[in-house]
Amino acid sequence: MRRKLAAGNWKMNGDADLLDELATLTAGQGDDAPEILICPPYPFLAHAVALSDGSPVGVGAQDCHASASGAFTGDVSAPMIAEIGAQAVIVGHSERRQGHGESDADIRAKAEAVWAAGLTAILCIGESEEERLGNNTLDIIAAQLNASTPNGASADKLVIAYEPIWAIGTGRVPTLEQIIETHDMIRNELIERFGNEGAMISVLYGGSVKASNAAEIFTARNVDGALVGGASLKAADFQPIIDALQAS
Ligand code: PEP
Repeated sequence: MRRKLAAGNWKMNGDADLLDELATLTAGQGDDAPEILICPPYPFLAHAVALSDGSPVGVGAQDCHASASGAFTGDVSAPMIAEIGAQAVIVGHSERRQGHGESDADIRAKAEAVWAAGLTAILCIGESEEERLGNNTLDIIAAQLNASTPNGASADKLVIAYEPIWAIGTGRVPTLEQIIETHDMIRNELIERFGNEGAMISVLYGGSVKASNAAEIFTARNVDGALVGGASLKAADFQPIIDALQAS
C-alpha cells in the first residue's frame, strides 16, 4: 500500500494564532486517519512540532538550503529542521522555482540534503498555463521529475506533488482525465527509473483542492493524496479533505 498523505502548505500566512487550527486538527483525528502533514512558516515550526507531538499530524518545512551549514544568511538547513523534530520538507514548489529562480539541479540538491538529514522530501513539479495550452505538459513534467529527483529514491523518503502552476490559488483545477493522464505518466517514469520502489512512491495532486472537489480528485488512480495551500489554513476546511482521502 502506498502512503496516503494530506499535506498542508501554509506558505507565508498566519501568526501564532494560526497554530490553534493545528491544535484543532490534531485533536480531531481518529486511529484510522491518513498521514497528515502541516508545513507552517519557519518561525512556527518548533511550536507546531510541540503541539502535534503524539498526534497523527506531522510537521514539515516549506523549503531548505542544500548545504548543511555555512555562510548562507537567511537560509535554514535540513539538519536544523530535523533537529527540531519536523519530518518533511517541501522542495521545488513553483513559488520557489519562479520567485527564487530555483532550477531542477537546485531542487535535486535540496532533496539530497533533505534525505541526508533523514527527512522526507515532498518534491513539487508542475507546468505553466502556456505549457499546458501548448500540449507540452507531459514532456515538461517528465523532464522536471527526472532532473529534480536524485538517484536512490524510495517511498519512505520521497513524495512527488504534481501541481499545475495555473491551478495554484486560482480555483481552477484540471479535468479528472488530465489529472489521471499526468499521474499515470509520473507513475510510469518512477517505475522505469526506480523499479518496484517507484511503484510505491506516493504522488499527490495539488492546486485548488478543496472540500468540494477532493473526493472526485481522490478517485483518480495514482493520486495518493493532496498538497493543499489555501484550504489547509483552517481545520474546518482541511478536515473534509482529510476525510475524503481517508474514504478513498
Ligand atoms: C500550493 O501552493 O501548493 C497549493 C496547492 O495551493 P492552493 O491549494 O491554494 O491552490
